[in-house]
Amino acid sequence: MRNYVKLTDRDNVAVVTHDTTKGTEIMPGLVLLDDIPQAHKFAIQDIPKDGEIIRYGVVLGYALNEIKRGSWINEHMLRLPASPSLDNMPFGVNIRKDLPEAPVKTFMGYKNPDGFYAGTRNILGIQTTVQCVQGVLNVAVEKIKREILPKYPNVDDVVAINHAYGCGVAINAPDAKFPIRALQNIARHPNFGGQLMVVALGCEKLTVEKLVGEENNTPENVIVLQDCKGFDAMINAITSMAERKLKILNERKREELPLSDLLVGMQCGGSDAFSGVSANPSAGYAADMLVQAGATVMFSEVTEVRDGVHFIAERCVSAEVRDKLADEMRWYDHYLAEGQVDRSANPAPGNKKGGLSNIVEKAMGSIAKSGTSPIVEVLSPAERPTKHGMIYAATPASDMVCGPCQLASGIGLQVFMTGRGTPYGLAAAPVIKVCSRNEMKEQWQDVIDISAGAVVTGEKTIQEVGTELFNFIIDVASGRKKPYTEQYGLHNFLCIFNPAPIT
Ligand code: CA
Repeated sequence: MRNYVKLTDRDNVAVVTHDTTKGTEIMPGLVLLDDIPQAHKFAIQDIPKDGEIIRYGVVLGYALNEIKRGSWINEHMLRLPASPSLDNMPFGVNIRKDLPEAPVKTFMGYKNPDGFYAGTRNILGIQTTVQCVQGVLNVAVEKIKREILPKYPNVDDVVAINHAYGCGVAINAPDAKFPIRALQNIARHPNFGGQLMVVALGCEKLTVEKLVGEENNTPENVIVLQDCKGFDAMINAITSMAERKLKILNERKREELPLSDLLVGMQCGGSDAFSGVSANPSAGYAADMLVQAGATVMFSEVTEVRDGVHFIAERCVSAEVRDKLADEMRWYDHYLAEGQVDRSANPAPGNKKGGLSNIVEKAMGSIAKSGTSPIVEVLSPAERPTKHGMIYAATPASDMVCGPCQLASGIGLQVFMTGRGTPYGLAAAPVIKVCSRNEMKEQWQDVIDISAGAVVTGEKTIQEVGTELFNFIIDVASGRKKPYTEQYGLHNFLCIFNPAPIT
């Protein structure tokens, strides 16, 4: 078992694999001058004041003071470098063709008539135009699940798409396109099998026509609470419509489909300094296998890509894709600047406790989940992909906001990497949890699906954990296995990204 991890020859720091005490000879002739907490960095060489601190072969920052060989390096000891320029980034210079061979090329999914990606679950999704209807809808959904759903065994669940948008918002503001597009596309999610059901209030700004189109605003699809005579009538209208939709959904059958019908989302949250060593590279390996087999994989989280954007640009297949990548980054730089912050607002106290000194270090770990495949398309938040392969979907890094954006893009499932631990989950698509270190798995044995901790200790390879994850993704997509979040019904609220004003 190894005691430290040094990632590239250029690195002048390494991270310890477990809490290590002052006085330990961590490398031959290198004695630690401080106690070093697990996943934190120590200096391999003396680093002068203003000297580069290098991990992943990139400059994480500059030393605020001289750092002696063997010293602990934490977030208070380095100055953030400028973020990489977005102008004229080289593209197409790192296009990998020899991706790892996937063991299977098909999965068992629900084909949809619209030709978009297949469903991984069979769910009645009940859309809402506005938050005002949530209380009534939740009561109705509880009744549906208790009394009606058991009659339709081929349907997995009934999910209310509750959100905080819809009214009290500047619906005509240019940036209102983000939340509107997100809700429009969630309504078309592949797991809902093309069955549309909307609960509206009647006086909201996000009208039914705006949400699902004029042609879908029919009594077969829409219930307007302000048109109902009292509470019982509301509940009866919702439960009756749900039963009609469940009857249709119950006819859906899984069939063997090529992996080109599968869309997988990747995100991370509660990351630590091992995330970029074990969990994210393993996810990247699984992603490469999926792409090799024809599937589509998307990764996201703008502030966690910004400092590694040039590495992503190198993998873009065309100038057009590279340009959209730069545009999305510029939009986000501006968005942050308007709020008088920059990408350094990203790391959380838990990230720092887990050894991540700043956003550069976090970003280098985060982009590892994208593997090495060529980037074939870049999406704005909540857009649907049009290509197959590795896609960058620009979304906020916030777990609660990235999730709904990826759902809107149509993911059949999400793979979620964590170092510190989070029980986050989505109701409309399964979420697989992958952790970066053994201690996390030991602590949350029954929450974490796959541990990449053995990669840190050197007991397993990235290829081994990546292949294990690939196989689990196929099993979950095919309905043969359920990740823990799905077994327990851990479903987070959908925070729809809304950069536009509230009125
Ligand atoms: Ca995240």
